[in-house]
Amino acid sequence: MKRRSRIRIAGSEVGLFPHSLALNPRFRPEVQRIKVDVEIEWEPLRRNDALVALENALVEISPNLRRHECFGPPAYRILRGFDAPRDTPDGETAQIELPLALAHLLEHLMIDTVATLTGEVLVSGATGARWDSRQRFDIFVECSDVAVAPLVVRLSVSWMQAVMAGRRLDGAGPPALELAHRIYARSGRGLDPTAWARRQRRDPRQVASALRWLEKNGFVRREQDLVYYQTERRAATPPRRRSA
Ligand SMILES: [Zn+2]
Repeated sequence: MKRRSRIRIAGSEVGLFPHSLALNPRFRPEVQRIKVDVEIEWEPLRRNDALVALENALVEISPNLRRHECFGPPAYRILRGFDAPRDTPDGETAQIELPLALAHLLEHLMIDTVATLTGEVLVSGATGARWDSRQRFDIFVECSDVAVAPLVVRLSVSWMQAVMAGRRLDGAGPPALELAHRIYARSGRGLDPTAWARRQRRDPRQVASALRWLEKNGFVRREQDLVYYQTERRAATPPRRRSA
């Protein structure tokens, strides 16, 4: 019988959530946070092996995870599988809760996605278990620009779902994040994706596939040869007429 493996977003929003400050002393009170309410079912047979395999697959997609500082409880620190087994000092395997470990990994993926998209160097996050369920968690990740939050959540969750199911990422892979960052960094001036792919010596088919995914999911829009981040006004454009 196939073991259940599922990750579902029950809700996500952006705000200051003052109560979340207690979860991580590095949270900056004035910086907004993305809050994701996530439900996770994951019961692999070989627990530690499954977690290490999942972390390895995520590092392939998001290599910067290796550079993260993780201040969580020792048994839950990410990427421990690379250098130390999850053993307690007396040699017994720590009985970590796998759904919580997975939620915590999703938090780190979101941190990485925020940092890549916005170019911010320091981004903090926290994962809180909920009193009403052992499979439901609140993840908080700093995000100074509300405009990037939907893409952060969508990409991070897509990556986690793909890795759990052993699926390919196709258009939602790392090139989509890099391209979105380039478009976002243009601050309303628009990016010519064909010229960018040529300049950066990127595979044009990969860039086209990433662009299709970003467009289809409403994160970017095309105007003639240029692509804009969906929430941005084109620079120096007269205000749009609103229909009554
Ligand atoms: Zn951590």
